[in-house]
Amino acid sequence: MVSFYPGPSQVHEKVPKWVKSAYEEGILGANHRSSRFQHLMKSVYHELHTKLQIPNDYSIVFTSSATECWEIIAQSFIQETSFHLYNGAFGEKWHRYTKPLVGHAVGYEFDYQEPLDLDQIIIPEDIELLCITQNETSNATQISSERMAMLRSKYPDTLIAVDATSSMGGILLDFSQADIWFASVQKCFGLPAGMGILICSPSAAARAEEIHEYDHYNSWLFMRSHAENHQTHITPNVLDIYLLDQVLKDRKGISSIHSKTVERYEHWTSFWEKQPQVRSLIQSSEAQSFTVIGIEGEPESIKSYHKKAKDAGFWLGKGYGSWKKNTFRIANFPAISKEHIEALQEALRA
Ligand SMILES: *Cc1c(COP(=O)(O)O)cnc(C)c1O
Repeated sequence: MVSFYPGPSQVHEKVPKWVKSAYEEGILGANHRSSRFQHLMKSVYHELHTKLQIPNDYSIVFTSSATECWEIIAQSFIQETSFHLYNGAFGEKWHRYTKPLVGHAVGYEFDYQEPLDLDQIIIPEDIELLCITQNETSNATQISSERMAMLRSKYPDTLIAVDATSSMGGILLDFSQADIWFASVQKCFGLPAGMGILICSPSAAARAEEIHEYDHYNSWLFMRSHAENHQTHITPNVLDIYLLDQVLKDRKGISSIHSKTVERYEHWTSFWEKQPQVRSLIQSSEAQSFTVIGIEGEPESIKSYHKKAKDAGFWLGKGYGSWKKNTFRIANFPAISKEHIEALQEALRA
C-alpha cells in the first residue's frame, strides 16, 4: 500500500537503502560525543542551510517532534505573553499547549475559508511572541508568502514563530519573514517520524539569552550550546539525522522543489475540478495549501473514493477530526512519486 496521508506520510523510496548504509557505516551505534557524529551534524546543518535557504546566522537544533517545539518555545522564548493566530486544529493545539506554561497566551481564531486579513486583527504592542501556523494540516490551508511578508512588515519589532511542520522542505519559505520556524521530518521530508527541526534567528536567540531560561533538559539555550559544538543534549535519533542528511543530499534546492510542488498542486486542482461529486474544501485559492489538498463531498462519495483508492493500493488521508465523513486529504509531499500520483488519479477518475 502507498500512503497519501499528510503525516506520517509515505517515506522516500530510498529510505530502505539509506537505513542499510547507516547500519553498514556503523553510524547508528556511534557515540553522540564522537567526532564521527559531529561530522554528520556538520553535514546535515550544511545541507539544511544550503538546500532550504536558511540564513547562515539562524541556528538549528533537533527535537523529538513539532509538539516538543511548541513546549520549548513556551519555556524559552516567552515570559508572559504570546498571541496565537489560528484557523484550525494544529494552531489551536499550539495555543492550548502554551496556555498552562506562560502567564498570558491569547488565542485569535480566523475564518479558514479566507486568507488571513490583518486589518481585522489588533495585536497588542507588548506581545512577546506572535505564533502562526503557516500550513494548517487539519483543514488544508496555508498563509501565503505575501501574507507572511505583510505580517512581518506590520509587526517589525515583534518576534514571530511559525509552525511549518507540513510545508518545510516542500515549499520555499522565506526565513527572514520570522524568527522561529519548526517542522518534523515525517511530512515534507518523507522520513520516519521521531524528529523535529527548530530554527531560530539571531533576534530570537538574543531574546532567549535575555530570558535566560535553563530549567529544563530541553531549554533552548542548553540545546543550542550543544548544537554549536555539533553535538546534542540527549542521545539523539541518529537514524533520522542520518536520513535527513541523505534525503537533502539527494534533493535539488528548495526553489526547484517548490516549483514541482506547485505544479503538482495545480495538476491535482484541475483533476478535482473534473470530478462531479466532490470539490475543494477550501474555496479561496490563496488560502489553499500547496502541500495538503482537502476535498469535500457527501459522506457516500467520500467513502467511495476511499474504497477506489484502497482497491488500487493507496490510502487517502482521512478528514481531520469531525470532518472524517465529509472530507479527505491528500499529501502533496516531495517524496511521493509521479507514478504513484498518476496511478491514484487513474483509480479515482470518475
Ligand atoms: C503534524 C503536525 C504537528 C505535530 O507534529 P509532531 O511531529 O507529531 O509533533 C504540528 N503542527 C502541524 C501543522 C502538523 O501538521
